[in-house]
Amino acid sequence: MIRHHPAAEILVDYARGALDRGASLVVACHLDVCEICRSETRLWEGVGGALLEKLDPAPLDANALARIMTRLDDQQPHRPTREVGLPAYLNRYSIPRALKHESVASRRWVTPGIWFAPIVAKEKTGRRTYLIYASRGTVMPEHQHGGGEFTFVLHGAFSDPSGTYGKGDFAETDERAVHAPAVTQESCCLCLISSDAPMALKSWPARTIQRLLGTPY
Ligand SMILES: [Zn+2]
Repeated sequence: MIRHHPAAEILVDYARGALDRGASLVVACHLDVCEICRSETRLWEGVGGALLEKLDPAPLDANALARIMTRLDDQQPHRPTREVGLPAYLNRYSIPRALKHESVASRRWVTPGIWFAPIVAKEKTGRRTYLIYASRGTVMPEHQHGGGEFTFVLHGAFSDPSGTYGKGDFAETDERAVHAPAVTQESCCLCLISSDAPMALKSWPARTIQRLLGTPY
């Protein structure tokens, strides 16, 4: 059962296309599995459309129609997915439709129980979007965030002081949160995360691993 949903402001930003690509992807994954948030997003998209109708008509540029058609196509809930071929290591998980279009890089094991896999995307900002896996009972190194972070739980569950997040849940943290999320004992956990900035790890061993990886998550 889904217990944690994006805040209304996030759904509004998603509906008006104001989120970065990675942040938008995390929200889209949640929308794939949450009828409540899909309905709310449709409402906000309708509000946006109604406001547009009130504006004075302006001439469309040559590519506007193509962009609108692409956007409408993207919003078709059951269009056949043009899957780009996700890595075989993801076969055992149920992957939301939104993620099936993405290019996922190879896994990088950080410890015997934790791996990261970046989503290959041409972000204009320094945003980082990646899958992270941790085996059951893993406690992640304590860290703070250099900015906002969205998380979608694909499999399993984790807990931090703000609550327990299970399959389908959406979590948001900001730069003030210091936490050490812990995977529950029932199962391993796989999450999609998109962050404004790298984690600021609190312990030097964790910072060393982060530096060795070459890509600061
Ligand atoms: Zn929801």
